[in-house]
Amino acid sequence: MTARRVVVIGHGMAGARLAGELRRHDPVAERVAVTVVGDEPHAAYNRVLLSGVLAGSLDLDAVRMQETDQRVDLRLGIAVTSVDRNERRVRLADDTAVDYDALVLATGARPWLPDVDGLLTEHGTLAAGVSAFRSRDDCARIVAGARPGVPVVVLGGGLLGLEAARGLAGRGCLVTVVHPNGHILDRQVDPAGGHLLRRVLERLGIEFRVGATAVRYLSGDGLKLADGGHVPGELLVVSAGVRAETGLARAAGLAVDRGVLVDDALRTNDPRVHAIGDCAQHASTDAGLVQPAFDQAAVLAARLTGADPAARYRGTPAVTRLKARDVDLASMGDVHLDPAGDHPPGVEVICVQDSTRGRYGKLVLRDDRVVGAILLGLPDAAANIIQFFDSQTPVPGDRLGLLLGRALPAEQSVGSSPAALPDNALICRCNTVEKARLVAAWQDGARDIPAMATATRATTGCSSCRNTVTDIMNWLASEQPA
Ligand SMILES: Cc1cc2nc3c(=O)[nH]c(=O)nc-3n(C[C@H](O)[C@H](O)[C@H](O)COP(=O)(O)OP(=O)(O)OC[C@H]3O[C@@H](n4cnc5c(N)ncnc54)[C@H](O)[C@@H]3O)c2cc1C
Repeated sequence: MTARRVVVIGHGMAGARLAGELRRHDPVAERVAVTVVGDEPHAAYNRVLLSGVLAGSLDLDAVRMQETDQRVDLRLGIAVTSVDRNERRVRLADDTAVDYDALVLATGARPWLPDVDGLLTEHGTLAAGVSAFRSRDDCARIVAGARPGVPVVVLGGGLLGLEAARGLAGRGCLVTVVHPNGHILDRQVDPAGGHLLRRVLERLGIEFRVGATAVRYLSGDGLKLADGGHVPGELLVVSAGVRAETGLARAAGLAVDRGVLVDDALRTNDPRVHAIGDCAQHASTDAGLVQPAFDQAAVLAARLTGADPAARYRGTPAVTRLKARDVDLASMGDVHLDPAGDHPPGVEVICVQDSTRGRYGKLVLRDDRVVGAILLGLPDAAANIIQFFDSQTPVPGDRLGLLLGRALPAEQSVGSSPAALPDNALICRCNTVEKARLVAAWQDGARDIPAMATATRATTGCSSCRNTVTDIMNWLASEQPA
């Protein structure tokens, strides 16, 4: 039997994971011959961990992904320049070409630069002092300039901007976040939550200009605002959002909206061409997170290898966590309903706020199920509420107690004891690792985080489950269950 030729464009998180999954289903390359072309020169790395590198808690060598590239024809440091769908061939920047039977676009997203004078040189490259925050190289450039006492402007108060700001403030930089909208993190939290989060971050030394429009950056000096204000910044980190990398797909005549349009089989409008990760647009998922990228890689690998030709991608319920030291924030689902508004029958919105201690909780329920939540400074409540969100089981009658982490007796509270977690509790969302799998890995001898990561992949995505995995291992060590 001739192996099917699968060509993957992009060796980022989705592309590398797909190659690993293809080899997991087909270890000796009998069914699929895999070629991956990536324009970054490095081995695949975990982009999510770059926030930790910026904060100084990880070094760049620690972000390498653990996917296998055995029996994969890897072409790194070289871009695909065009796709010829009639010939079923991709052309590379070195004038070579690779033929495919199935093509996968995993080209990710690129940072979006707002229309601000002075960000680019006349040659279209970033001006001196300006950096995006997407790649290993961006991260290394920012770290090189981030000396204590250096004024830094972060343009954009979304998740990545705030993670960058917290990391740089932790390095002793004088950080100001400039955000165009009315409150920071406006996609993930409501105005009250954004206001409180801002206070928490201000206490950690970060300054904010919200509702501010940047008009001009002067290298080495700072950012001029539309209201006439000036924010000093020897370094400017632009974190104003990303745009799906769809250039190749558009040029090849594939259907593109915000991203490359795909169906539940992750097929584009050409059944031989697929798209996954940040470049793809699926009806039920917002791109931009690693969990959908990994879920999509798993579904597509099952289809392409024939392990499960009927596998379908049905969307990924998103939980976002801010990875910033001393700040505990989780947000999930629909969070923008106004607690004081009129809601349809069955919908409840409950809020608690403790401004002095920087705690805020919002719970949105539909028919007793969690459909949205914001949890700032409430880690025990967050642990329980995420479980209710994932399992879609009805919450207890004491809603307020749930928001305070007190509605469940201690032995049932996930926040207080891992013993209370059901076996099917999702611990590592990025890799869909349930508690039962961690327990099994422990029983097979995995006794520390690296061993758990090798056995189950837990902690190798966004790594926000690291503490829970550690708690589970500590609980297992103390209980020694049969
Ligand atoms: C600092 C940071 C922190 C993040 N934190 C989180 C988090 O906590 N949780 C979370 O869920 N997500 C997080 N994300 C988002 C997450 O990293 C992305 O969702 C994920 O990387 C998407 O994977 P991808 O493979 O689609 O894209 P990418 O990882 O960007 O990979 C795409 C690759 O394709 C390459 N490429 C593009 N065009 C071509 C071409 N023509 N030829 C060859 N190669 C090409 C690109 O250079 C790149 O290497 C974070 C991102 C960043 C930058």
